Amino acid sequence: MIMVYDSLTRAKRLLEPIKPPEVSIYVCGVTPYAESHLGHARPAIFWDVIKRHLTRRGYLVRHVQNFTDIDDKLVNRARTIGTSVSSLASQHMEQYVHMMNQLGVIPPDYAPRVTENLSSIIAFIEGLIARNKAYATALGNVYFRVDQFPEYGRLSGRIAEPQRVGVRVEVADDKQDARDFALWKSSPAEEESFPSPWGTGRPGWHIECSAMSSLYLGQQFDLHGGGIDLIFPHHENELAQSESYFGITPAACWVHNGMITQGDVKMSKSLGNGTSLAELLSRYPAMALRSYLLSVHYRSPLEFSEESLTDWTRGMERVWQLWNRVRHVASPSGKLGAPWEERLISFEERFLACLDDDFNTARALAEVFDLVHEVHRGVAAGEPATALGWARINLQKADQILGLLPVAASNPVGLDPVIQHLLAWRQQARQNRDFGLGDEIRSILEKSGWIVEDRPDGSSAVTRGSGGQHE
Ligand SMILES: [Zn+2]
Repeated sequence: MIMVYDSLTRAKRLLEPIKPPEVSIYVCGVTPYAESHLGHARPAIFWDVIKRHLTRRGYLVRHVQNFTDIDDKLVNRARTIGTSVSSLASQHMEQYVHMMNQLGVIPPDYAPRVTENLSSIIAFIEGLIARNKAYATALGNVYFRVDQFPEYGRLSGRIAEPQRVGVRVEVADDKQDARDFALWKSSPAEEESFPSPWGTGRPGWHIECSAMSSLYLGQQFDLHGGGIDLIFPHHENELAQSESYFGITPAACWVHNGMITQGDVKMSKSLGNGTSLAELLSRYPAMALRSYLLSVHYRSPLEFSEESLTDWTRGMERVWQLWNRVRHVASPSGKLGAPWEERLISFEERFLACLDDDFNTARALAEVFDLVHEVHRGVAAGEPATALGWARINLQKADQILGLLPVAASNPVGLDPVIQHLLAWRQQARQNRDFGLGDEIRSILEKSGWIVEDRPDGSSAVTRGSGGQHE
């Protein structure tokens, strides 16, 4: 029994997959025009946890997440820095994937790009015109007829996009109704544009998600994700397009995550100070950043500060220290009947129940901290074998869903901070292909008695002659 909050009905609903055991998920992806930042990581990690939890509950997950690789922001930035749209987009898509790998995010089953799905997008627009839900104009634009969709506004509770000054090239003069929105936008020959039945241009932003979600997941799928800032106009328009085309609401349930704020300023598309993922990952263990983003319920805003991230990392060190102690211990061999032991035995049930209730990762993490506390109680009671045995089993179970424990190549736990810093610095140097610096740091580490091993997967481990291996 998994309950999910649905933005359309504004209530928690029981997840009832359309085609069990499959749960189909479409999440609006990134526009790769700049470096990845914290605002990209929050939904990616949250959906990663949803997928792992659904899998744990016996579902087969099919997840599609697009890349908007053609868009005004890409065109403008490419022009500013003097590169092509496709190379700018490729560079940032690659960087995004690299950052998500570091954060332990399982990739989507499909990551369709707009420029590679133009024929489906054009076919979708033609279908809307054929149904009289859209019209082409003499200027080569195509608009959706909002007055043909009486339920327009039911997702967001709003009826029209507010006029914004100085935004994009959209030509409003040829609209029949001010509320109509673009499905295809004619663009000048010198800009990145594509052929279509209406002349050269680019698809409007919203149509790509109607076309690609139906292409990869069918007319209706189970969960539609995105940031709360996408409800209007993006998801409102997507819903109108898809329902006008298929006669059915595209998503059974709309799931929206809250924004990250910094000093009360919303962080969505723009890169705030100190929020570059590459920069944060050079200073914090990946699993600290990951769990920090899960420490607040996904629908609430998350107020980011360097101080709160540092405090959170310190708290997580207690979990990692325990993990380092128990990672090789045997399972419990007896039953004592102690109260702390009962808490450890029932840990998984409580942990999963938190996630069943609208994916409450904040409460699930609280259970993990409670687990650490109960293990220490058991050790203090003179029963370390039982307590530590349960610690290993339960931490692994929590890790399988939340991704909490250190992975290879992230900052090692239990190492001297100076060694940690050197390893992180060396990792960064190697990522930048500065192998000379990498070798110098290796020699400093070796002079201090550490043996550095680089593995084929790009991760590194250090070993002490007498101590155990740290990953
Ligand atoms: Zn979308």
